[in-house]
Parts: sequence; C-alpha cells; structure tokens
Amino acid sequence: MAKKIKIAKTIEQLHKLLASAYGKKKIGYVPTMGALHDGHASLIRQSVSKCDITVCSIFVNPTQFNDASDLEKYPRTLAADVKILAAANCDIVFTPGVEDIYPSGTKSQLKLRLGKLDKVLEGEFRPGHFKGVAQVVKRLLDIVKPTMLFMGQKDFQQFTIIQHMIDQLKIPTELVVCPIKREKSGLAMSSRNVRLDKDIKVRSDILYKTLLEAKELLNLGYSPKKIEAYAMKAFKIPDFKPEYFRVVSGYDLQPIKNASKLDYIVACTAVWAGDVRLIDNLILKSPNA
Ligand code: AMP
Repeated sequence: MAKKIKIAKTIEQLHKLLASAYGKKKIGYVPTMGALHDGHASLIRQSVSKCDITVCSIFVNPTQFNDASDLEKYPRTLAADVKILAAANCDIVFTPGVEDIYPSGTKSQLKLRLGKLDKVLEGEFRPGHFKGVAQVVKRLLDIVKPTMLFMGQKDFQQFTIIQHMIDQLKIPTELVVCPIKREKSGLAMSSRNVRLDKDIKVRSDILYKTLLEAKELLNLGYSPKKIEAYAMKAFKIPDFKPEYFRVVSGYDLQPIKNASKLDYIVACTAVWAGDVRLIDNLILKSPNA
C-alpha cells in the first residue's frame, strides 16, 4: 500500500520535514513542473530505490518559458499529481510559489560558463530557456540540498547543462539520469501530450520511428549530415513541422566531424505536432555499449 505523502507548501515546511534527515539520510530529489505521468513516476521510483527519503517539487518555472502563452497553457493538475507521487512512494511533495523561489525577483544572479552548450539545439530555438532552467535548479538544489538529483534523458541538453553546473559550482549532489519512458506507440511521455489532437497524437510516433531509423543509418555508415537531411524530410507530413533534427556529440552536443572516431553520439529533435512542440532524442552510439 502507498504510504501517506507529506505536502510542503513553503521552504520552512520543507526544512521542518527534512530536519532530522540532513547529515543522516540519503535524500533523493526529483524536480518537475507537474502534470505528472509515468515518466516522472519512473524518476521517483529510481529515487525511492536508491535513497532513504524522496522529495518531488512541482513548480512551473516562469523564467524558463520564452513564450508567455506556453507558460499560460502549461497543464496544472496538482490533485492528480499528488496521487501519482503517493502511488510511487514519494515521501514529500514540495509546491513552492514564485515568491518562495524568487523572493528578490526573477532576475538571475547565477554566473555559469556554459560555452556553446546552451547555444545549440533547444538553446537555438528557445533563447534564454537554459538560463532559466539553471537558475531554478540551482535555487531548488540550494533549498532541498539533496544527496542525489534524478533527471530524465528525455531532456538531454538539460541534464548535460545541469551536470556542467554541478561540476563547475562543485555542488555536492550526484546527478542520476533516467531512461525515457515511452507510450506503447513509441511517443515519449510528456506533460504536453495531453494537448495533442487525437489524430495528430496517433501519428506522433513519427519522432521515435525516425530516431530509430537514424540509428540504423549511422550503423550503415551514413554521415550525420545525410541522416539529418533524411529525418527533416521524413517529418514533412501534414500537421507536422520540424524545428531541428541533429546528430551531435553526446559529450558536448556539438556537430560531429568524424562519426567513426566518436564513441558517444546522440540524435536530438524538436517537432511541432499541430500547435504542440515535442522533443525527443535517442543515443545512437554509447561509450557504455
Ligand atoms: P518536467 O516536468 O517536464 O520539467 O520534467 C521533470 C523531469 O522529468 C525532467 O528531468 C524530465 O527529463 C523528466 N521526464 C519528462 N518526461 C520524461 C519521460 N518520458 N521519461 C523519463 N523522464 C521524463
């Protein structure tokens, strides 16, 4: 049976709940923006299996939205979220308000050297997005002070940048990256999927199918440029509009000069499906394989 989950609405309440754990117990932390699905629950389950206490935050961070209507349309489903978290054995759900996270305003004071990491892929199409992500994750890590942080591979560039931040600022938290949870069709689970038109959703498996084809093509010796061109063409179907499909280094997300000499290659894509922007990725070549 699922245990009773505790809700902390403020930093004070959270610290009260965690006071006896600091320094004694392993605290696992899963930051989310809510509208939870089984992808989020899989992160919670990983945390529960590795840590003594699991905290999940639900905070729709205004500073990472570069489009006001996207922020406004972001689904908010707190009651259902709490049920999902309780079923996954999460201990504490932290639901701060904007005033808790940004008491002195949303202007970021964070100094990070990201080089070209935040300029490519999502960074190219969502200017300022990762500045907002790094800002909120740093603030949340300062508040929660977890032993382990659990993030999804679904947001490949996001976890890469957060690992960079952890290393650069010497934050004493270990990042654990969890695999992408997919629907039966192959469509990566996402809070935005509920906004997909039914007919478009059925055809949204095109992202995963194309990523799998990219892997095959790389194995057959096709160059990243040829694979990218192939994929962009595959997405030219009614209701779909690709923003990018890139085959890049898994280490630094930059274009690849010689694919045969690199052991970590990932394909990342963003595609508009109707008025919903979907992102997905697949590791085409892994150093751990
Ligand atoms: P979000 O609420 O979209 O900000 O996501 C919160 C965390 O859940 C991030 O670390 C995401 O990468 C992760 N996540 C989102 N979708 C999935 C998925 N389909 N499978 C695994 N993790 C996911």
